[in-house]
Amino acid sequence: MLIRTLGKLECTKVLAENRLGHLACAREGRPYVVPIYFGYEGNCLYAFSMPGKKIEWMRASPVVSVLVEERGRGREWKSVIVDGNYEELPDRFQRNRAWALLSKYYDWWEPGAFKPVTPLMADHSDHVFFRILIDQLSGREAKETDLLP
Ligand SMILES: Cc1cc2nc3c(=O)[nH]c(=O)nc-3n(C[C@H](O)[C@H](O)[C@H](O)COP(=O)(O)OP(=O)(O)OC[C@H]3O[C@@H](n4cnc5c(N)ncnc54)[C@H](O)[C@@H]3O)c2cc1C
Repeated sequence: MLIRTLGKLECTKVLAENRLGHLACAREGRPYVVPIYFGYEGNCLYAFSMPGKKIEWMRASPVVSVLVEERGRGREWKSVIVDGNYEELPDRFQRNRAWALLSKYYDWWEPGAFKPVTPLMADHSDHVFFRILIDQLSGREAKETDLLP
């Protein structure tokens, strides 16, 4: 296997071509990681959620990290780590933009809307649209050397 560092353009390509990430936040020294769907546009990741632990934690401590990974042939992979800042989108225009971006994907909203204890879409006003403003990106790729041309 050959491991190499991805350039910035290669990192943004991974973000543009994938929609599942693992969002990490922290509060009072404790980490918390959850899978989320996102859309990438203009140096930001856009996402949607119901209120809950991650929203509460990111409101209190907006510095976050998101891991996005992509599988290739055999054991090949690419992964990108985004370091950034959580920002809610109270502005109607920005929410509509995020909605348009996320709704390109079939059923993108379902995991964010489902909660074990609250009925689905019971109260639309609870929904939180947010973005992660990208501060720093890093990426790595693993290539099978015997698959290289
Ligand atoms: C493929 C996929 C895509 C998803 N996309 C989104 C999305 O776009 N937006 C979104 O908001 N959510 C999404 N989810 C669900 C998300 O991972 C969380 O389960 C959900 O958002 C609730 O998070 P919360 O912090 O509000 O937890 P809360 O409902 O507040 O619950 C907190 C407690 O439940 C546990 N918990 C919460 N989520 C999980 C989990 N996934 N697995 C195990 N334990 C858990 C925590 O450890 C914590 O103790 C997705 C899940 C999957 C698998």
